[in-house]
Amino acid sequence: MTGLATALPDIEPARLVFTRNSNPKPPPESSKLVWGRIFTDHMLMIKWNALSGWADPHILPYGPLSLEPSSSVLHYAQTIFEGLKAYRDEDGKITLFRPDMNMKRMNRSAARIALPGFDGDALQKLIMKLIEIDAHWVPQLPGHSLYIRPTLIGNQPTLGVAPPTDALLFVICSPVGPYYPNGFKPVSLYGTTEFVRAAPGGTGSYKLGVNYAPGIIPQKLAAKQGYAQNLWLWGPDHLLTEVGTMNVLAVFKKDDGSIELATPPLEDVILPGITRDSVLELARAHASGSLSLDGLPKNFTVTERPISMKEVKAASENGTLVEIFGAGTAAVITTVDRIGYLGEDVIVPVGEDGLGPVSRVILREITGRQIGKIPSSWSVVVKE
Ligand SMILES: *Cc1c(COP(=O)(O)O)cnc(C)c1O
Repeated sequence: MTGLATALPDIEPARLVFTRNSNPKPPPESSKLVWGRIFTDHMLMIKWNALSGWADPHILPYGPLSLEPSSSVLHYAQTIFEGLKAYRDEDGKITLFRPDMNMKRMNRSAARIALPGFDGDALQKLIMKLIEIDAHWVPQLPGHSLYIRPTLIGNQPTLGVAPPTDALLFVICSPVGPYYPNGFKPVSLYGTTEFVRAAPGGTGSYKLGVNYAPGIIPQKLAAKQGYAQNLWLWGPDHLLTEVGTMNVLAVFKKDDGSIELATPPLEDVILPGITRDSVLELARAHASGSLSLDGLPKNFTVTERPISMKEVKAASENGTLVEIFGAGTAAVITTVDRIGYLGEDVIVPVGEDGLGPVSRVILREITGRQIGKIPSSWSVVVKE
């Protein structure tokens, strides 16, 4: 696979072909944005073929794709995606948050389902070009951003189940408002034991389209019982894995008085979230003393270890559960106030502002780096 990819043309930003949209739309009013419904004037598209490699990249007007009904993606879910955001700071500067991580993860996802790999730096450059072209679509209001959705599909027009001979990479962009327009609000979770999102040896740790459709009915059933999201529990010990489509973290008070931030380790059933990684890196820097995050306790540890519902329930009952939150690009942090588990509700503490003592600091530190308030190498400038 990789041997083939190196011998054939890779994605080449210098060969970009740009077709300007002659019928551009005015971007909608920021206050009226509905998540993922409206797309900018242009998209990026790059074709791949097993014999000729990556073709010249195109930026062209946003519009429908033309696919053969026999396209492999339509039958066997040969599709992977990424999600990242462009932010505009107070001076109008546009930045991306850790886009190199998205490029790496996208290549990892591609390899898992035999889609072609590519030069991540090259794709990042082209995404930055696309954002520059549609820069007036990056909302200015605080909490708003431009959501970027790179997607790669196999579109070989034959019905055999095999690595595709043809693929199509495209990137579309959608302006989005704040996840919590009316202030931070904790969510309730349904501890899900009757469905699994991911299993050892499966594909849960890759951002594949195939992982998402099976979660829709469990989500509907949880909503019917009054819960906002599924808390995906795994195995006989009902280990916490993920919250809906976010990673999960829990904070405990230990016997020695220290505070522990814990999250399940990156194994087969956990998606390696970039927000998760950012939370851990900041928290570890504080724990080691290399960075002091105002508001976090001094006596603080960070662990990647299995967390069972039994432990969470006991901690909720004996007062050592400090908080539980989800982490992901869409909302950055989502706090939890209760978990429906085997017929009863486990109560999770939250502060009056909807945040907990650790999530409040983490949210401030991550969003500060995203919008350029806190200088950071994680923030990559697209346009000054
Ligand atoms: C995308 C995703 C996440 C979060 O990843 P980020 O890189 O932080 O946005 C977590 N879990 C699942 C299942 C996901 O698809």
